[in-house]
Amino acid sequence: MKAPRVAVIGGGLGGLSAAALLARGGCAVTLFERSKHLGGRGQTSDVEGFRFNLGAHALYQGGAGMRVLGELGVKPAGGMPGAGSYLLSGGRLHTMPRGLVSLLTTDALGLPGKLELAKLLAGLGRVDLAPLANITTRDWVEQHLSNADARAFILALVRVMTYCADVDAMSAQSAVAQLQAKPAVLYVDGGWSTLVSELETRARDAGTRLELSARVSAVLLADTGARVRGVRLADGTEHAADAVVVAGGPGDIAALLPADALLAHDAARAVPVMAATLELGLSRLPRPDALFALGTDGPWYASVHSAVAKLAPEGGAMVHVMQYLGGRGPEASEARLEEVMDALQPGWRTSVVARRYRPSLLVSHWLPTAETGGLRGRPSVEVPHVPGLYRVGDWVGPEGLLAEASFASAESVARALVPGQQVASRRAVGR
Ligand SMILES: Cc1cc2nc3c(=O)[nH]c(=O)nc-3n(C[C@H](O)[C@H](O)[C@H](O)COP(=O)(O)OP(=O)(O)OC[C@H]3O[C@@H](n4cnc5c(N)ncnc54)[C@H](O)[C@@H]3O)c2cc1C
Repeated sequence: MKAPRVAVIGGGLGGLSAAALLARGGCAVTLFERSKHLGGRGQTSDVEGFRFNLGAHALYQGGAGMRVLGELGVKPAGGMPGAGSYLLSGGRLHTMPRGLVSLLTTDALGLPGKLELAKLLAGLGRVDLAPLANITTRDWVEQHLSNADARAFILALVRVMTYCADVDAMSAQSAVAQLQAKPAVLYVDGGWSTLVSELETRARDAGTRLELSARVSAVLLADTGARVRGVRLADGTEHAADAVVVAGGPGDIAALLPADALLAHDAARAVPVMAATLELGLSRLPRPDALFALGTDGPWYASVHSAVAKLAPEGGAMVHVMQYLGGRGPEASEARLEEVMDALQPGWRTSVVARRYRPSLLVSHWLPTAETGGLRGRPSVEVPHVPGLYRVGDWVGPEGLLAEASFASAESVARALVPGQQVASRRAVGR
């Protein structure tokens, strides 16, 4: 039998994973990436020897990412954060509750808050996720906690686990799923571009053709019926394919089939998750014992990623500071991020070797909202009304958040196009 020809549009983590899995499964794969570089939002820049990811990136353990990377033989190296962690409130650091003893001793909460929180956390594992899809995270927290400190702490945990501050829109299903999973994370040595280059190698080794600076301008459909027959590039050349996998955003796929009202509808209902980020390369850490701060009085985060991963030159430190943004959140503010650093690392300003501020980065294309039914409300991998068309990304399918969803949807495409593809069992929330 002739190998099915598959065109993959997009060379981020999702597109590269899909291409590698499909090529390994016997498809003739060509991947088109419009930029000069692979990686999409998984890129890392070298600034004065410091490895800057595009904002703070942490690879979830035990989810779709590690599953797909493992399947392709990629073993990410790095370290797990945890030591030197604090809560940040009123410009001061407080002990981070990480277990019963630290919960009892922290001054971040009073006794009534501690008792309420301990009760909620003890019963969290038994919470049924399915009925939470259409409830907002704020409503769920307010139903279960009456103490203001306890609410502030849980919402801070939700922000760091989902990357989203818009708790008035976010479905409680994805928030509680993350709290239940308590995902351990890995800071990757050398940054996420090491994952990108490993995936590139796997894709090439399996026979994928990679075309860079190749923007696809249209998905082509057969004259009879709506089945895909290939893609057209911006320079006018056409490329025949039996299946097309779009591994970009909801707006990208809608632009490739401009007459398709359903794809346009999906693009219109996507609520993006955004963040403001400050990356810092420091010659030294003023306080080597203070490595992580999580705001409870605002959506702030700071973490010394180089404390556990190789991301800085000898003796130096690479720090990510971030503000989670939401539709109704505060405006992005570089000065506010600097104040977070003042609390975590007083005196840091005299040690700055490299810095980069980005007021508005797209973290994820699709916030699973209560209004759209949580994770199960995201568009499916198959595009049911266009045979042969598939989508991959952090906005597709019922499994995972952020890059986890990109990896999980890449795996689902491989399952769909390569029957019998060996894939480990997956965990979909809300089943
Ligand atoms: C600040 C920040 C922090 C984050 N932190 C985390 C984290 O801690 N953990 C986590 O799991 N995730 C995190 N993420 C999210 C993660 O980076 C993304 O979910 C993931 O990289 C998405 O990969 P992707 O391949 O689906 O999409 P992308 O990386 O966006 O790749 C899509 C690619 O498609 C290409 N493309 C689109 N249209 C076309 C076209 N017409 N022709 C050719 N090419 C096209 C684009 O150029 C792009 O390269 C974070 C993101 C940000 C910004």
